[in-house]
Amino acid sequence: MSCEDDVAKIQKKLNKIVSGEKSDHPLELLKTLQKLPVTLDILTRTRIGMTVNSLRKSSSDDDVISMAKSLIKSWKKFLTPGTPSGKDKEPSGGSAKKPSREPESKPSKPVVKEEKKDKTPVQTSFPPVSVTTDSVRLKCREMLANAIRGTGEYPEGCQSAENLADELEDAIYSEMKNTDMRYKNRVRSRVQNLKDTKNPELRTNYICGAITAQKLAVMTSEEMASNEMKNLREKFTKEAINDAQLAQVEGTKTDLLKCGKCGKRNCTYNQMQTRSADEPMTTFVLCNECGNRWKFC
Ligand SMILES: [Zn+2]
Repeated sequence: MSCEDDVAKIQKKLNKIVSGEKSDHPLELLKTLQKLPVTLDILTRTRIGMTVNSLRKSSSDDDVISMAKSLIKSWKKFLTPGTPSGKDKEPSGGSAKKPSREPESKPSKPVVKEEKKDKTPVQTSFPPVSVTTDSVRLKCREMLANAIRGTGEYPEGCQSAENLADELEDAIYSEMKNTDMRYKNRVRSRVQNLKDTKNPELRTNYICGAITAQKLAVMTSEEMASNEMKNLREKFTKEAINDAQLAQVEGTKTDLLKCGKCGKRNCTYNQMQTRSADEPMTTFVLCNECGNRWKFC
């Protein structure tokens, strides 16, 4: 956990460097990063690989570039266990997309095979599909991530705010195809609505997977602020109440929620009044695919 926090801290600083905000010492940050006991789990949760890759692409400092490359290379080993670690034949660019995409020369193990049918970038595909170095896009992702992260406690077990922000930005960008005013307005209105304290359902629904990035990307302000968001929640609650009446103690199966770990939509949930009666119910979710558990209000 603490290692993940360290990684996240460094990631924040690196993001600032990439977006040209601040000129910290990227090389020092990368060195610190190299010393941390980063695991595959941390890599997929934080997507630090993506950050380092952005830094590599945006940097003009040879030391930074080669340090970033070697870091990415060392992390790649997590993904392709059978790959000989000696020679990396990719000289530069594009290396980020290789592991999950191309068969390469040897018949590699089908490590990411099962993820392919999922259109969302499941966390185990590292580095993720939507790598960008466009400073406008990166800035927008950061804004979205901040809005998704919110100020309170972030629900455990759900996809990270960064991950969700990238997915959302990617969905907006693939519709607009550029970063003009329309794109910026679209991003801005998502940020505003996700931050809207009068409409916390939107943010929660997106985090728990009840709304997809593709859907959120195209919703109008009216739709985002509408009762639809509340109704989604009510739908859960009603289902749960019906189930309670039927005495199904195992919980309610649903495909409305998406697992933050495996990205599948095969969950079972229970709702409970954990605090006083006028406060929202707490929803306890279990992923039937991978056993991931989380909860949200
Ligand atoms: Zn799962």
